[in-house]
Amino acid sequence: MSSLTVVYNEISEVAGLLHKNGWAEKNAGNFSILVDLDFEINSGKHYPLPKPYTELANKVFIVTGKGKRMRDIARSPAENTVVFKINSKGDMYSILSVALVTPTSELPTHLAIHSMIAQRSSNERAVMHSHVTELIALTHIEKYCDQDRFNNMLWQMHPETIMFIPTGVGFVPFELPGSSEIATATVEALKYHSIALWEKHGVFSIASNLNDCYDLIDIIAKATKIYLMCAAVGTLPQGLSTNQLDQLKDIEF
Ligand SMILES: [Zn+2]
Repeated sequence: MSSLTVVYNEISEVAGLLHKNGWAEKNAGNFSILVDLDFEINSGKHYPLPKPYTELANKVFIVTGKGKRMRDIARSPAENTVVFKINSKGDMYSILSVALVTPTSELPTHLAIHSMIAQRSSNERAVMHSHVTELIALTHIEKYCDQDRFNNMLWQMHPETIMFIPTGVGFVPFELPGSSEIATATVEALKYHSIALWEKHGVFSIASNLNDCYDLIDIIAKATKIYLMCAAVGTLPQGLSTNQLDQLKDIEF
């Protein structure tokens, strides 16, 4: 099985999960993966990037296509994603894949995040954006538009949240999607957290692969769902105690 087939298989699996969870209405959601693949340039055309990304020079990415549905990406990754290579100056890219698909409109945010990752030389290679209904709902409640309060609620809802997401979620106040402002704010949040929550919009996560990006989001979606289920029956949840959370932090896994 070629390396590209392995990546397409993972894309298919995770895109299908995002769709089935109802986290990807219409063409919502997007992701990008840094890959080590040898490709012949297909189009020969060079497309300008909105700004130079010098840290990403000569790197190859697979990203979801602009306007493409997550359910179509799951069915046919090759026709709904695009593989491209950034040039040696980091200011243009060339499409390598066969289908001439335009990259997602959130490309500036994805590339800004990958640039930040490249500068700290970590093993993170995948970036995912999704419209997780439960998380968006909570950012419509003013008191949870506060990073500390939001994270304390998440940790209290389920033992695994503090175990797997000990640094919590970074909160990004509302900005227009696709703007340089939201890219900058998201990068800042992801310097310290593996998940950035976009007020009244959705969530971004970063990890070494797409499945791990999905797991991070799934964990906080579950915690949020528990909170909302209790609230829906008229009782706010008791939550794990400070002592219980302290003990959970010490568990080796
Ligand atoms: Zn979105």
